[in-house]
Amino acid sequence: MTDYETVSADVDDEEEIPEDHPRYQDLLTRHRIERGVEKGITHLQGMHAEGRGSAFDYLLGEETIPSADEAERVAAAHLLLAERPVLSINGNVAALVPGEMVELADAVDADLEVNLFNRTPERIEAIADHLREYGAEEVKGLEADARIPNLDHQRAKVDADGIYAADVVVVPLEDGDRAEALEEMGKIEIVIDLNPLSRSPRVAEVPIVDNIIRAVPNVTAHARELADADEAELRAIVDSFDRENALRTAEERIRSGEL
Ligand code: ATP
Repeated sequence: MTDYETVSADVDDEEEIPEDHPRYQDLLTRHRIERGVEKGITHLQGMHAEGRGSAFDYLLGEETIPSADEAERVAAAHLLLAERPVLSINGNVAALVPGEMVELADAVDADLEVNLFNRTPERIEAIADHLREYGAEEVKGLEADARIPNLDHQRAKVDADGIYAADVVVVPLEDGDRAEALEEMGKIEIVIDLNPLSRSPRVAEVPIVDNIIRAVPNVTAHARELADADEAELRAIVDSFDRENALRTAEERIRSGEL
């Protein structure tokens, strides 16, 4: 047995995971989800979601494929054009990319809103505190004074001045029903999900088939690079995007098994 094989079980701090490990990103991801569960911000169900994502990422070669990079640039353009952009945070997102979501919100002037599938006041508070530890100033989702139409009560809860009023929403690792209901509300949805066959990316205006730990910093990098672009340039980027092609290309890559 190599030293590497014992890493994920023993590690106390992510700094201990060797960056040259061939499965570094996967070990880091698992470690962050475990910590999220321990901290009360991630539901146990989130571990299953992570396991599914990890299998797709393995087949994608654990890299941002060119069509995902393009989708990430398009997402940045949409966010810069938006009047009321909101980034939705669930337990996995909070565990995996808290600081990265705060940075993206800052780069595109978006709000952060906690939105949970398994909603409890304790988890909402824990996630909001966690985001504040990473520099978030305002965190929405605690009021929950509006409802997404056509969804059951618990999952429909959103802030009236947050997701409910948003024109562009980033919903990473979103459940299919809610993604559909948001789409029916006429929102421009940017979904980050490693499974191109899942309903959420299939209803999204911009499906990003990539690991959230790579996708979010890359959207931020594109947003910074496009910060001085005028509206016409941003519109041209958005209009040139072919969502079907993005989904098809990712699916082909996963099915071909060419790593
Ligand atoms: P549906 O969207 O059809 O309801 P599902 O039930 O598989 O599909 P969920 O369990 O609600 O979906 O969400 C998990 C989704 O998140 C999976 O599609 C999985 O591929 C994706 N996922 C998990 N971890 C990551 C990650 N780190 N980055 C991106 N996507 C991820």
